[in-house]
Amino acid sequence: MRLIAAGCSGLALGSVQGCSAPPRVASVPPQRIDDLGTPASSVWPLADQYPQPDLSDGRLIGQRTGIRPYRRGSVRVEVQDLAGKRVIHNYGHGGAGITLAPASSAEAIDLLEATSPESGSTIAVLGAGIVGMTTADLLRDRGYSVRIYTEHITPNTTSDVAGGQFAPATVAIGGSERRDRWMCVASDYYLPRAGTGCGVDRVINFTVGDAGGALRHLPDDHFQRRSLNRLPIDGVNQSGGAYETLVIAPPIYLRWLMERLIARRVTFRLQRIASPSDVADLPEQAVINCMGLGAKAVFGDDQLIPIRGRLLMLEPQPLGYLLSHPRGYLFSRPDAVVLGGTYDRGQTDSTEDPRVTGELLERHQLFFTSG
Ligand SMILES: Cc1cc2nc3c(=O)[nH]c(=O)nc-3n(C[C@H](O)[C@H](O)[C@H](O)COP(=O)(O)OP(=O)(O)OC[C@H]3O[C@@H](n4cnc5c(N)ncnc54)[C@H](O)[C@@H]3O)c2cc1C
Repeated sequence: MRLIAAGCSGLALGSVQGCSAPPRVASVPPQRIDDLGTPASSVWPLADQYPQPDLSDGRLIGQRTGIRPYRRGSVRVEVQDLAGKRVIHNYGHGGAGITLAPASSAEAIDLLEATSPESGSTIAVLGAGIVGMTTADLLRDRGYSVRIYTEHITPNTTSDVAGGQFAPATVAIGGSERRDRWMCVASDYYLPRAGTGCGVDRVINFTVGDAGGALRHLPDDHFQRRSLNRLPIDGVNQSGGAYETLVIAPPIYLRWLMERLIARRVTFRLQRIASPSDVADLPEQAVINCMGLGAKAVFGDDQLIPIRGRLLMLEPQPLGYLLSHPRGYLFSRPDAVVLGGTYDRGQTDSTEDPRVTGELLERHQLFFTSG
Protein backbone atom coordinates (compact mmCIF):
# COMPACT_ATOMS: atom_id res chain seq x y z
CA MET A 1 0.00 0.00 0.00
CA ARG A 2 1.34 3.47 -0.85
CA LEU A 3 0.23 6.57 1.01
CA ILE A 4 -0.08 9.91 -0.74
CA ALA A 5 -0.31 12.94 1.50
CA ALA A 6 0.16 16.69 1.36
CA GLY A 7 3.78 17.47 0.53
CA CYS A 8 4.47 13.90 -0.58
CA SER A 9 7.47 14.08 -2.86
CA GLY A 10 6.33 11.05 -4.85
CA LEU A 11 3.47 13.01 -6.41
CA ALA A 12 4.49 16.14 -8.27
CA LEU A 13 1.08 17.65 -8.87
CA GLY A 14 2.27 21.21 -9.38
CA SER A 15 -0.22 23.98 -9.95
CA VAL A 16 -3.10 23.85 -12.41
CA GLN A 17 -1.58 26.89 -14.10
CA GLY A 18 1.94 25.42 -13.85
CA CYS A 19 4.27 24.46 -16.66
CA SER A 20 3.09 20.84 -16.82
CA ALA A 21 -0.59 21.79 -17.08
CA PRO A 22 -2.30 21.32 -20.47
CA PRO A 23 -2.16 24.46 -22.66
CA ARG A 24 -5.02 26.97 -22.35
CA VAL A 25 -6.33 28.90 -25.28
CA ALA A 26 -8.49 32.00 -25.02
CA SER A 27 -12.22 31.47 -25.38
CA VAL A 28 -13.36 34.40 -27.52
CA PRO A 29 -16.97 33.96 -28.68
CA PRO A 30 -20.08 34.57 -26.52
CA GLN A 31 -20.82 31.98 -23.86
CA ARG A 32 -24.31 33.19 -22.90
CA ILE A 33 -27.49 33.19 -24.98
CA ASP A 34 -28.10 36.90 -24.28
CA ASP A 35 -24.77 37.71 -25.90
CA LEU A 36 -26.04 36.34 -29.22
CA GLY A 37 -28.16 39.47 -29.59
CA THR A 38 -31.85 40.03 -30.14
CA PRO A 39 -33.77 37.82 -32.56
CA ALA A 40 -34.97 40.48 -34.99
CA SER A 41 -34.94 39.10 -38.49
CA SER A 42 -34.40 36.02 -40.56
CA VAL A 43 -30.64 36.62 -40.55
CA TRP A 44 -30.47 36.37 -36.77
CA PRO A 45 -28.13 35.31 -35.31
CA LEU A 46 -25.18 36.37 -37.43
CA ALA A 47 -23.84 33.34 -39.25
CA ASP A 48 -20.19 33.92 -38.47
CA GLN A 49 -20.27 34.61 -34.73
CA TYR A 50 -18.43 31.32 -34.12
CA PRO A 51 -15.58 29.83 -36.16
CA GLN A 52 -15.84 26.52 -37.94
CA PRO A 53 -13.45 23.94 -36.46
CA ASP A 54 -10.37 22.90 -38.42
CA LEU A 55 -10.91 19.13 -38.61
CA SER A 56 -8.01 18.35 -40.92
CA ASP A 57 -6.07 15.16 -40.21
CA GLY A 58 -2.99 17.15 -39.22
CA ARG A 59 -4.84 18.61 -36.23
CA LEU A 60 -5.33 15.18 -34.63
CA ILE A 61 -3.42 14.67 -31.37
CA GLY A 62 -4.89 11.37 -30.18
CA GLN A 63 -7.70 8.96 -29.48
CA ARG A 64 -8.97 8.32 -25.94
CA THR A 65 -10.87 5.17 -25.02
CA GLY A 66 -12.77 4.54 -21.81
CA ILE A 67 -15.41 2.20 -20.42
CA ARG A 68 -18.57 3.85 -19.13
CA PRO A 69 -19.89 2.21 -15.90
CA TYR A 70 -23.54 1.99 -17.00
CA ARG A 71 -25.93 0.48 -14.46
CA ARG A 72 -29.30 -0.95 -15.52
CA GLY A 73 -32.17 0.55 -13.53
CA SER A 74 -30.29 3.31 -11.74
CA VAL A 75 -27.05 4.68 -10.41
CA ARG A 76 -26.66 2.75 -7.15
CA VAL A 77 -26.96 4.89 -4.03
CA GLU A 78 -27.79 2.29 -1.40
CA VAL A 79 -26.70 1.14 2.02
CA GLN A 80 -25.34 -2.35 2.72
CA ASP A 81 -24.25 -3.89 6.01
CA LEU A 82 -20.96 -5.73 5.73
CA ALA A 83 -19.56 -7.55 8.75
CA GLY A 84 -20.75 -4.81 11.10
CA LYS A 85 -19.56 -2.05 8.80
CA ARG A 86 -21.83 0.35 6.93
CA VAL A 87 -21.14 0.52 3.19
CA ILE A 88 -22.87 3.22 1.14
CA HIS A 89 -22.69 2.49 -2.58
CA ASN A 90 -22.26 5.37 -5.02
CA TYR A 91 -21.51 4.03 -8.50
CA GLY A 92 -22.94 3.23 -11.94
CA HIS A 93 -22.94 6.71 -13.53
CA GLY A 94 -22.63 5.50 -17.13
CA GLY A 95 -21.86 8.38 -19.50
CA ALA A 96 -22.68 11.09 -16.96
CA GLY A 97 -20.38 10.68 -13.96
CA ILE A 98 -18.69 14.04 -14.41
CA THR A 99 -22.13 15.65 -14.54
CA LEU A 100 -23.85 13.78 -11.74
CA ALA A 101 -21.07 13.13 -9.21
CA PRO A 102 -21.99 16.09 -6.95
CA ALA A 103 -25.64 15.03 -6.76
CA SER A 104 -25.25 11.29 -6.19
CA SER A 105 -22.45 11.96 -3.70
CA ALA A 106 -24.58 14.40 -1.69
CA GLU A 107 -27.34 11.77 -1.64
CA ALA A 108 -24.87 9.08 -0.53
CA ILE A 109 -23.67 11.26 2.35
CA ASP A 110 -27.27 12.03 3.37
CA LEU A 111 -27.87 8.28 3.44
CA LEU A 112 -24.75 7.74 5.52
CA GLU A 113 -25.90 10.30 8.07
CA ALA A 114 -29.45 8.93 8.15
CA THR A 115 -28.43 5.29 8.63
CA SER A 116 -25.11 5.42 10.45
CA PRO A 117 -25.08 8.06 13.18
CA GLU A 118 -22.40 6.03 14.96
CA SER A 119 -20.08 5.96 11.95
CA GLY A 120 -17.31 8.05 13.52
CA SER A 121 -15.47 11.08 12.26
CA THR A 122 -13.29 9.36 9.64
CA ILE A 123 -14.94 7.95 6.52
CA ALA A 124 -13.29 5.61 4.03
CA VAL A 125 -13.95 6.35 0.36
CA LEU A 126 -13.19 3.64 -2.21
CA GLY A 127 -12.04 5.02 -5.57
CA ALA A 128 -10.52 8.30 -6.73
CA GLY A 129 -12.35 9.02 -9.98
CA ILE A 130 -14.71 11.99 -10.20
CA VAL A 131 -17.24 10.28 -7.92
CA GLY A 132 -14.79 9.31 -5.15
CA MET A 133 -13.04 12.68 -5.12
CA THR A 134 -16.30 14.64 -5.20
CA THR A 135 -17.61 12.51 -2.33
CA ALA A 136 -14.44 13.27 -0.37
CA ASP A 137 -14.80 16.99 -1.05
CA LEU A 138 -18.41 17.03 0.15
CA LEU A 139 -17.52 14.95 3.24
CA ARG A 140 -14.88 17.55 4.16
CA ASP A 141 -17.53 20.27 3.76
CA ARG A 142 -19.56 18.45 6.41
CA GLY A 143 -16.59 18.18 8.77
CA TYR A 144 -15.53 14.53 8.30
CA SER A 145 -11.96 13.32 7.95
CA VAL A 146 -11.54 11.25 4.79
CA ARG A 147 -9.21 8.47 3.71
CA ILE A 148 -9.42 7.38 0.07
CA TYR A 149 -8.43 3.82 -0.86
CA THR A 150 -7.89 3.43 -4.57
CA GLU A 151 -6.07 1.41 -7.17
CA HIS A 152 -5.51 4.36 -9.53
CA ILE A 153 -5.50 8.13 -9.31
CA THR A 154 -5.79 10.87 -11.93
CA PRO A 155 -4.76 10.83 -14.79
CA ASN A 156 -5.33 7.06 -14.88
CA THR A 157 -9.06 6.72 -14.20
CA THR A 158 -12.06 6.47 -16.54
CA SER A 159 -13.02 9.94 -15.39
CA ASP A 160 -9.86 11.31 -17.02
CA VAL A 161 -11.06 9.98 -20.39
CA ALA A 162 -14.49 11.65 -20.28
CA GLY A 163 -15.33 14.50 -22.63
CA GLY A 164 -16.84 16.55 -19.82
CA GLN A 165 -20.15 17.78 -21.23
CA PHE A 166 -22.64 18.70 -18.54
CA ALA A 167 -25.51 16.44 -19.62
CA PRO A 168 -27.30 13.37 -18.19
CA ALA A 169 -26.41 11.12 -21.14
CA THR A 170 -26.25 7.29 -21.26
CA VAL A 171 -27.28 6.90 -17.65
CA ALA A 172 -30.25 5.53 -15.73
CA ILE A 173 -31.03 7.80 -12.79
CA GLY A 174 -34.23 6.23 -11.50
CA GLY A 175 -36.98 8.53 -12.74
CA SER A 176 -37.44 12.05 -14.06
CA GLU A 177 -38.08 13.62 -10.64
CA ARG A 178 -34.73 12.39 -9.34
CA ARG A 179 -33.00 13.32 -12.61
CA ASP A 180 -34.25 16.91 -12.46
CA ARG A 181 -33.34 17.21 -8.76
CA TRP A 182 -29.85 15.84 -9.39
CA MET A 183 -29.29 18.21 -12.31
CA CYS A 184 -30.19 21.17 -10.05
CA VAL A 185 -27.84 19.99 -7.29
CA ALA A 186 -25.03 19.42 -9.79
CA SER A 187 -25.61 22.82 -11.44
CA ASP A 188 -25.44 24.56 -8.06
CA TYR A 189 -22.16 22.76 -7.38
CA TYR A 190 -20.40 23.51 -10.67
CA LEU A 191 -21.71 26.95 -11.64
CA PRO A 192 -19.75 28.91 -8.97
CA ARG A 193 -16.58 27.22 -10.30
CA ALA A 194 -17.18 28.28 -13.92
CA GLY A 195 -14.54 30.60 -15.28
CA THR A 196 -12.32 30.36 -12.20
CA GLY A 197 -9.48 28.45 -13.91
CA CYS A 198 -10.27 24.98 -12.56
CA GLY A 199 -11.44 23.61 -15.92
CA VAL A 200 -15.15 24.44 -15.64
CA ASP A 201 -16.52 26.79 -18.31
CA ARG A 202 -19.91 28.03 -19.43
CA VAL A 203 -20.59 27.35 -23.10
CA ILE A 204 -23.46 27.35 -25.54
CA ASN A 205 -24.49 24.00 -27.02
CA PHE A 206 -25.82 24.34 -30.57
CA THR A 207 -28.05 21.60 -31.86
CA VAL A 208 -29.05 20.90 -35.42
CA GLY A 209 -32.80 20.55 -35.97
CA ASP A 210 -34.78 19.58 -32.89
CA ALA A 211 -32.93 20.68 -29.77
CA GLY A 212 -33.32 17.18 -28.34
CA GLY A 213 -33.54 15.61 -24.93
CA ALA A 214 -30.54 17.01 -23.08
CA LEU A 215 -31.96 20.50 -23.41
CA ARG A 216 -35.04 19.61 -21.39
CA HIS A 217 -32.99 18.21 -18.52
CA LEU A 218 -31.14 21.40 -17.65
CA PRO A 219 -32.81 23.57 -15.01
CA ASP A 220 -34.58 26.60 -16.56
CA ASP A 221 -33.46 29.01 -13.89
CA HIS A 222 -29.78 28.12 -14.39
CA PHE A 223 -29.45 27.87 -18.15
CA GLN A 224 -31.20 29.75 -20.96
CA ARG A 225 -32.27 28.24 -24.27
CA ARG A 226 -33.60 29.44 -27.63
CA SER A 227 -34.56 28.24 -31.07
CA LEU A 228 -32.41 29.60 -33.88
CA ASN A 229 -33.41 30.14 -37.47
CA ARG A 230 -29.81 29.45 -38.37
CA LEU A 231 -26.80 28.28 -36.37
CA PRO A 232 -24.25 31.10 -35.96
CA ILE A 233 -21.30 28.91 -36.99
CA ASP A 234 -19.29 29.96 -39.99
CA GLY A 235 -20.32 27.94 -43.04
CA VAL A 236 -23.22 26.11 -41.37
CA ASN A 237 -26.55 26.97 -42.95
CA GLN A 238 -29.00 25.02 -40.77
CA SER A 239 -31.68 25.87 -38.23
CA GLY A 240 -31.64 24.46 -34.74
CA GLY A 241 -31.41 25.41 -31.11
CA ALA A 242 -29.02 26.78 -28.55
CA TYR A 243 -28.84 26.15 -24.85
CA GLU A 244 -26.39 27.19 -22.19
CA THR A 245 -24.49 24.48 -20.42
CA LEU A 246 -21.06 23.70 -18.95
CA VAL A 247 -17.95 21.89 -20.04
CA ILE A 248 -15.86 20.39 -17.26
CA ALA A 249 -12.44 19.50 -18.72
CA PRO A 250 -11.38 16.36 -16.82
CA PRO A 251 -7.59 16.69 -17.27
CA ILE A 252 -7.71 20.13 -15.65
CA TYR A 253 -10.58 19.67 -13.20
CA LEU A 254 -9.51 16.31 -11.72
CA ARG A 255 -6.01 17.54 -11.12
CA TRP A 256 -7.37 20.70 -9.50
CA LEU A 257 -9.73 18.62 -7.33
CA MET A 258 -6.97 16.29 -6.19
CA GLU A 259 -4.76 19.23 -5.22
CA ARG A 260 -7.70 20.70 -3.35
CA LEU A 261 -8.31 17.46 -1.44
CA ILE A 262 -4.66 17.14 -0.47
CA ALA A 263 -4.74 20.73 0.78
CA ARG A 264 -7.86 19.78 2.78
CA ARG A 265 -5.90 16.92 4.41
CA VAL A 266 -7.66 14.08 2.62
CA THR A 267 -5.24 11.13 2.39
CA PHE A 268 -4.94 8.76 -0.57
CA ARG A 269 -3.82 5.14 -0.10
CA LEU A 270 -2.97 3.17 -3.22
CA GLN A 271 -4.58 -0.18 -2.55
CA ARG A 272 -6.53 -2.61 -4.70
CA ILE A 273 -9.76 -3.88 -3.11
CA ALA A 274 -10.18 -7.48 -4.28
CA SER A 275 -13.18 -8.65 -2.27
CA PRO A 276 -15.78 -7.60 0.32
CA SER A 277 -13.50 -8.96 3.06
CA ASP A 278 -10.88 -6.35 2.08
CA VAL A 279 -13.56 -3.73 2.74
CA ALA A 280 -14.51 -5.36 6.03
CA ASP A 281 -10.85 -5.23 7.11
CA LEU A 282 -10.58 -1.45 6.74
CA PRO A 283 -10.26 0.40 10.07
CA GLU A 284 -13.08 2.87 9.33
CA GLN A 285 -16.63 2.04 10.44
CA ALA A 286 -18.27 3.64 7.41
CA VAL A 287 -17.28 3.28 3.78
CA ILE A 288 -18.58 5.02 0.64
CA ASN A 289 -17.99 2.82 -2.39
CA CYS A 290 -17.16 4.87 -5.50
CA MET A 291 -15.26 2.27 -7.50
CA GLY A 292 -17.25 2.72 -10.73
CA LEU A 293 -17.01 -0.38 -12.91
CA GLY A 294 -14.66 -1.90 -10.32
CA ALA A 295 -17.70 -2.46 -8.07
CA LYS A 296 -18.98 -5.12 -10.48
CA ALA A 297 -16.40 -7.73 -9.53
CA VAL A 298 -15.96 -6.79 -5.88
CA PHE A 299 -19.67 -6.64 -5.04
CA GLY A 300 -20.98 -9.02 -7.73
CA ASP A 301 -23.29 -6.44 -9.30
CA ASP A 302 -24.71 -7.94 -12.51
CA GLN A 303 -26.60 -4.71 -13.29
CA LEU A 304 -23.33 -2.98 -14.16
CA ILE A 305 -22.64 -3.06 -17.89
CA PRO A 306 -19.53 -1.71 -19.59
CA ILE A 307 -20.17 0.65 -22.50
CA ARG A 308 -16.99 1.52 -24.34
CA GLY A 309 -16.58 5.00 -25.73
CA ARG A 310 -13.94 6.56 -27.93
CA LEU A 311 -13.12 10.25 -28.40
CA LEU A 312 -10.79 11.97 -30.81
CA MET A 313 -8.68 14.83 -29.51
CA LEU A 314 -7.61 17.61 -31.86
CA GLU A 315 -5.24 20.48 -31.13
CA PRO A 316 -6.96 23.17 -29.03
CA GLN A 317 -8.94 25.80 -30.97
CA PRO A 318 -10.92 28.64 -29.36
CA LEU A 319 -14.34 27.59 -30.75
CA GLY A 320 -16.21 28.41 -27.56
CA TYR A 321 -19.19 26.11 -28.25
CA LEU A 322 -20.53 22.59 -28.29
CA LEU A 323 -22.23 21.26 -31.39
CA SER A 324 -24.60 18.29 -31.51
CA HIS A 325 -25.26 17.26 -35.11
CA PRO A 326 -26.76 14.12 -36.67
CA ARG A 327 -23.32 12.53 -37.11
CA GLY A 328 -21.98 13.12 -33.59
CA TYR A 329 -20.96 15.85 -31.19
CA LEU A 330 -17.91 18.06 -30.86
CA PHE A 331 -16.72 20.74 -28.49
CA SER A 332 -13.71 22.78 -27.54
CA ARG A 333 -12.00 22.46 -24.18
CA PRO A 334 -8.99 24.49 -23.08
CA ASP A 335 -6.76 21.48 -23.78
CA ALA A 336 -8.34 20.05 -26.96
CA VAL A 337 -11.17 19.97 -29.45
CA VAL A 338 -13.09 16.78 -28.60
CA LEU A 339 -14.97 14.71 -31.18
CA GLY A 340 -17.41 11.99 -30.05
CA GLY A 341 -18.77 9.61 -29.79
CA THR A 342 -19.09 5.88 -29.90
CA TYR A 343 -21.13 3.51 -27.70
CA ASP A 344 -20.06 -0.15 -27.72
CA ARG A 345 -22.22 -2.03 -25.23
CA GLY A 346 -20.48 -4.91 -23.44
CA GLN A 347 -17.05 -4.03 -24.87
CA THR A 348 -14.13 -3.69 -22.45
CA ASP A 349 -11.14 -3.75 -24.78
CA SER A 350 -9.63 -0.27 -24.59
CA THR A 351 -6.91 -0.85 -27.19
CA GLU A 352 -6.86 2.08 -29.61
CA ASP A 353 -8.33 1.34 -33.02
CA PRO A 354 -7.02 3.37 -35.99
CA ARG A 355 -10.11 2.42 -38.04
CA VAL A 356 -12.32 4.21 -35.52
CA THR A 357 -10.13 7.30 -35.74
CA GLY A 358 -10.66 7.49 -39.51
CA GLU A 359 -14.40 6.83 -39.32
CA LEU A 360 -15.08 9.28 -36.50
CA LEU A 361 -13.06 12.06 -38.07
CA GLU A 362 -14.80 11.53 -41.41
CA ARG A 363 -18.26 11.65 -39.78
CA HIS A 364 -17.53 15.11 -38.43
CA GLN A 365 -15.76 16.36 -41.54
CA LEU A 366 -18.79 15.26 -43.62
CA PHE A 367 -21.15 17.37 -41.53
CA PHE A 368 -19.27 20.52 -42.46
CA THR A 369 -18.56 19.63 -46.07
CA SER A 370 -22.08 18.38 -46.88
CA GLY A 371 -23.71 21.55 -45.45
C1 LIG B 1 -15.58 8.23 -23.94
C2 LIG B 1 -16.31 8.72 -22.71
C3 LIG B 1 -16.87 9.98 -22.70
C4 LIG B 1 -17.54 10.44 -21.56
N1 LIG B 1 -18.05 11.70 -21.58
C5 LIG B 1 -18.70 12.17 -20.49
C6 LIG B 1 -19.22 13.50 -20.49
O1 LIG B 1 -19.09 14.24 -21.47
N2 LIG B 1 -19.86 13.93 -19.37
C7 LIG B 1 -20.01 13.14 -18.26
O2 LIG B 1 -20.64 13.59 -17.29
N3 LIG B 1 -19.50 11.88 -18.24
C8 LIG B 1 -18.86 11.38 -19.31
N4 LIG B 1 -18.36 10.09 -19.32
C9 LIG B 1 -18.67 9.21 -18.18
C10 LIG B 1 -17.70 9.34 -17.04
O3 LIG B 1 -16.39 9.18 -17.50
C11 LIG B 1 -18.00 8.28 -15.98
O4 LIG B 1 -19.37 8.26 -15.66
C12 LIG B 1 -17.22 8.57 -14.73
O5 LIG B 1 -15.84 8.60 -15.04
C13 LIG B 1 -17.45 7.56 -13.63
O6 LIG B 1 -16.70 8.00 -12.53
P1 LIG B 1 -16.31 7.04 -11.35
O7 LIG B 1 -15.56 7.87 -10.36
O8 LIG B 1 -17.52 6.31 -10.90
O9 LIG B 1 -15.39 5.92 -12.02
P2 LIG B 1 -13.82 5.93 -12.37
O10 LIG B 1 -13.39 7.20 -12.97
O11 LIG B 1 -13.61 4.67 -13.14
O12 LIG B 1 -13.12 5.80 -10.97
C14 LIG B 1 -13.15 4.61 -10.24
C15 LIG B 1 -12.09 4.64 -9.17
O13 LIG B 1 -12.17 3.43 -8.41
C16 LIG B 1 -10.91 2.80 -8.39
N5 LIG B 1 -11.14 1.36 -8.35
C17 LIG B 1 -11.86 0.61 -9.22
N6 LIG B 1 -11.81 -0.70 -8.85
C18 LIG B 1 -11.04 -0.75 -7.74
C19 LIG B 1 -10.62 -1.80 -6.89
N7 LIG B 1 -10.96 -3.05 -7.11
N8 LIG B 1 -9.82 -1.48 -5.83
C20 LIG B 1 -9.46 -0.21 -5.58
N9 LIG B 1 -9.83 0.83 -6.35
C21 LIG B 1 -10.61 0.56 -7.42
C22 LIG B 1 -10.24 3.24 -9.68
O14 LIG B 1 -8.82 3.07 -9.57
C23 LIG B 1 -10.68 4.70 -9.75
O15 LIG B 1 -9.86 5.48 -8.93
C24 LIG B 1 -17.67 9.61 -20.42
C25 LIG B 1 -17.08 8.35 -20.42
C26 LIG B 1 -16.40 7.89 -21.55
C27 LIG B 1 -15.77 6.54 -21.53
